[in-house]
Amino acid sequence: MTQLSADVAEKLARIELLCLDVDGVLTDGKLYYTSNGEELKAFYTQDGSALKRLQANQVTLAIISGRSSAMVRRRAAELGIVHLYEGSEDKLPALRELSSITGIDVANMAHVGDDIADIALFEAVGCALSVADAHPEVRARADWVASLPGGKGAVRELADAIVLHKNAAARAEHSG
Ligand SMILES: [Mg+2]
Repeated sequence: MTQLSADVAEKLARIELLCLDVDGVLTDGKLYYTSNGEELKAFYTQDGSALKRLQANQVTLAIISGRSSAMVRRRAAELGIVHLYEGSEDKLPALRELSSITGIDVANMAHVGDDIADIALFEAVGCALSVADAHPEVRARADWVASLPGGKGAVRELADAIVLHKNAAARAEHSG
């Protein structure tokens, strides 16, 4: 596992809510259209198990997607994600609502994004996370960028790192 700076490790340990973009983060960003005009996306199984482990470690999950899709609603239901916002280019109002519903301060939230629309959320949350194949401007503004691309293990990598650093910080608190 990549050695993280103390600053990033501390930010990961503080995360109480992880907010996820869909296209390019939970998927590889490709949209497939059937001849019926239906939209298809592919999700990565190991991201799902890592996200369930995060929830087991008391991290709340949310999805804020610029697009709207029945497949996303189905994937969110499978993962037990109840906070789902879709179909809005401006993602900030969703983040504010999320904070008031959950009572979790935005400083204790992280957002994983890959595109320009995610930058506004990066500036609001305590921890900005991105994926290897994100837009260069987005990567440049992230606190930490996964070594793997979106839809191919990036979310698993980020989720595993959050669990690891939360557990390490909890152990340090107990022994201290
Ligand atoms: Mg995206």
